[in-house]
Amino acid sequence: MRTFVMAHRESWQDDVGQSTWERIVLPLDIEKRACIFCGCVTDSSKKVASIDFVQDIVDAQALCVQNELAARTINNVCASAIAAHKLLRPAQPGNRQKKNHAILCACHSCHHWVNRRYKLPNFLLPLQALSWYVNTLICITKKNLDHRVVFRLCCVLTRPGIDGLTNYYRTLFSENELSLFANISCDTVHEVSPKVAAYYYARNGWCMFLSNSKLVEYIRRGMHDEPDEEAGDE
Ligand SMILES: [Zn+2]
Repeated sequence: MRTFVMAHRESWQDDVGQSTWERIVLPLDIEKRACIFCGCVTDSSKKVASIDFVQDIVDAQALCVQNELAARTINNVCASAIAAHKLLRPAQPGNRQKKNHAILCACHSCHHWVNRRYKLPNFLLPLQALSWYVNTLICITKKNLDHRVVFRLCCVLTRPGIDGLTNYYRTLFSENELSLFANISCDTVHEVSPKVAAYYYARNGWCMFLSNSKLVEYIRRGMHDEPDEEAGDE
């Protein structure tokens, strides 16, 4: 867990770092908070996500997924948010009525997406699903990820947010993945499929044999820019 170097400063609310980590974790006003799921800071409406809700999703994942970097990072973020809240917004004596517990925030898109799907078997959080998808070309469950979501996540991971902050969750991805996301974000949603297919092919497809025929079909479709069946899917 990162340490709270800002704790002793009086101006911690104005003094945020270069990445969105502080905006995800510190008990700032909701308008300033970044999304726990995608790390973006936007002007649009935000929803409160309880730490228990996020933690329960991660705890319900398969052990091999929980041991991956993304789940461990989310766990750290949750623990950090609780610690930051205790340190920076201690309970006031005589003010027991008012709720005083750590919270996280979610952007409108992630909140909607996660709430509709988190009870599905083998559910992956948005960035976990993105990572799985670009490295396997498979959405783990049907209708779990469509190209509008992939495009949006690529944009929020690539473009600096409203205060010029770098998305903290870039740390979850390799240089190759980040350049794929940058490449996707500078085009349109309709180019997601060929770009991901080309990325996969460049990394895995040079050999004569691929692991299954669906993969071959997907790559062929992507590489030849054929119609994207998932474009209208949600
Ligand atoms: Zn989000």
